[in-house]
Amino acid sequence: MTGPTAGRPGPTVLVVEDDAETRAVLVRELATRGYRVVEAPDGATALREWQARRPDVVLLDLGLPDVDGLQVIRRIRRDASTPIVILSGRYEEREKVEALERGADDYVTKPFGVDELHARLRVAIRHAAGPAANAEGRTSVGPLELDPARHEVRVRGTRVDLTPIEFELLRVLMSHAGRLVTKGRLLRSVWGEAYQGEDSYVYVHVSQLRRKLAAADPDGSLRDLIVTEPGVGYRVRDPSDLPA
Ligand code: CA
Repeated sequence: MTGPTAGRPGPTVLVVEDDAETRAVLVRELATRGYRVVEAPDGATALREWQARRPDVVLLDLGLPDVDGLQVIRRIRRDASTPIVILSGRYEEREKVEALERGADDYVTKPFGVDELHARLRVAIRHAAGPAANAEGRTSVGPLELDPARHEVRVRGTRVDLTPIEFELLRVLMSHAGRLVTKGRLLRSVWGEAYQGEDSYVYVHVSQLRRKLAAADPDGSLRDLIVTEPGVGYRVRDPSDLPA
């Protein structure tokens, strides 16, 4: 194996893609970056390889020749929390959202950059290994610190006054730093099952949360902390992208 992790085995990625050309590019690029790559041209092969190899992450094209990509997700989620990153076409918006709601962890849209793809896989694998929080559950992203036990958020040590809803939104987003959180998931986690479809709740409170964080941080490094993924949800930028 060549690449940055030569000498120690990298994570295993199962690449599920029916388009031979795209698959070949993925296999080559990921192998270069140190992944052990298992490939599958259809859903049946994907599930067989998944059973046999138990990869660290699955990269899944939704449009497969034999079964629906959603079925692959459902089958994997029946007994494993293996991270699943979707490869979606620009015309597959509805399928993408459905896949994310059914347990896929993230997505990249074709045509994608290899760096972006690698970042998504890396974050998905890292979080599957365990939560980013320390023993007391405190999480931090750049200058922002959240302490669930004390119900406190601080920016460079100065407390930010958040409502309970804003606090909970930020807590869920920060506990998934770098990863996508769908609007449906935020509604379920913060408001509860009965609020499915009330996307405007999320929109209004995220806007308010952004305003408060931006105001609490005069040097502006938190202005773009919460990134909107149009039509899908939100993502707190990965800590490694932010200045400390
Ligand atoms: Ca396809």
